[in-house]
Amino acid sequence: MNTRETLKVNAQGHLEIGGIDTVTLVEKFGTPLYVLDEKYIRDMCAVYRDTIEREYDGNGIVLYASKALSCLAIYKIAKSEKIGVDVVSGGELYTALKAGFPAEKIYFHGNNKLASEIEYAIDNKIGTIVVDARAEMDLIDKFCAEKGVMQSILLRINPGVEAHTHHYIQTAKTDSKFGFSVADGTAKSIVEYALTKKNIVLKGFHCHIGSQIFEKQSFKLAVDKMMAFAVEVRDQLGFEATVLNLGGGYGIWYTDEDAKLTCSDYAIYLKTIIDELKRKANEYKIPNPYLVIEPGRSIVGEAGITLYTVGTIKDIPGIKKYVAVDGGMFDNPRYALYQAKYTAVLANRALEAPTETVSVAGKCCESGDIVCADVALPAAKTGDILAVLSTGAYNYSMASNYNRNLIPPMVLVKDGQANYIVKPQTFEDLVRNDVIPDYLK
Ligand SMILES: *Cc1c(COP(=O)(O)O)cnc(C)c1O
Repeated sequence: MNTRETLKVNAQGHLEIGGIDTVTLVEKFGTPLYVLDEKYIRDMCAVYRDTIEREYDGNGIVLYASKALSCLAIYKIAKSEKIGVDVVSGGELYTALKAGFPAEKIYFHGNNKLASEIEYAIDNKIGTIVVDARAEMDLIDKFCAEKGVMQSILLRINPGVEAHTHHYIQTAKTDSKFGFSVADGTAKSIVEYALTKKNIVLKGFHCHIGSQIFEKQSFKLAVDKMMAFAVEVRDQLGFEATVLNLGGGYGIWYTDEDAKLTCSDYAIYLKTIIDELKRKANEYKIPNPYLVIEPGRSIVGEAGITLYTVGTIKDIPGIKKYVAVDGGMFDNPRYALYQAKYTAVLANRALEAPTETVSVAGKCCESGDIVCADVALPAAKTGDILAVLSTGAYNYSMASNYNRNLIPPMVLVKDGQANYIVKPQTFEDLVRNDVIPDYLK
């Protein structure tokens, strides 16, 4: 475990989060249950925000990448931490606006934004649209002309750096659905094109090189490539970018194969990026650009755990033991999608040493419905509470009603208090949008 003051084993030998015993949480809210530690989220927001303040004279902004976990309460927290957010769909944008999030601090991403989404963003005076296609630029310009408004944009650039956890690759031509490639010249030509648009204000450039990255060198390389590109377009097109958005992607602890970072370690990551940015600006003799970063996973990932109740246990001698829980790919599809790894603990017996390696299976009718494979646990019994750690990011946001299972509720915990931020679904919710055509009645 990557323990901290708000996630530890308490004197009763139970897992405790946000000052509450998980056994108490289960008594009160049942399982499956998503639990989110508010202090950790706020600490992470503050670390990024304060590092920009301290190391870069406040010349930048942290955006919470809300695709990691989007619900009304999370935008309230982001707002009160005085950071911005990025959204990637009309639905996320709606949720942010509904929570009263300031529109000027919203950045809108997506490789195929719908015309309706673009118009919705412009009508709501969204601060920045990160443009990822020529046709998108045409639409923005058209809507703005009709409405008599201007729209600030960044261009999503593909700098040819792709990072994966502990290594990165530099490619001349990355096969990606995202961004305008520097290598093949489309990045430069889209800058030229943007400058012809009367209703668009091009502010600068954006890149996002990957996710779950620990390698500082890959971020430095992205800075170098983006700064070189900025200088190239300044020299050749006379356009001076004032904003540089370097995306998100900082890694978190899932298992002991990953680094166990504390909040202050993330400040070091960001300082490394800032130092490189300053070094390059100095080398090119250009002003420091306004820095935007977009961490998602690292803000909410380790803040979250999921609590389940152990049900059936199937031991296939000499092969494998399956411990089944009352959740599965409908609340966490990440193993099914890409064999994501997790750490599990028996929350009600958290001091007991692991004695066996098991796979935690879900309850869906799908062999691939595994929550986590090959985890070390004490011998689990039916009725035990099983906690899967680091589930705050890309779990609830990827949940579904597969097999007509109910998406679990989520509670926010802080200082020993727990409150719903996503209430339980009901069976009635499942049929809410179902319609029976007359001839079937
Ligand atoms: C997914 C994404 C992020 C956040 O990535 P994390 O790995 O969750 O930090 C930021 N920016 C963009 C454009 C993204 O697509």
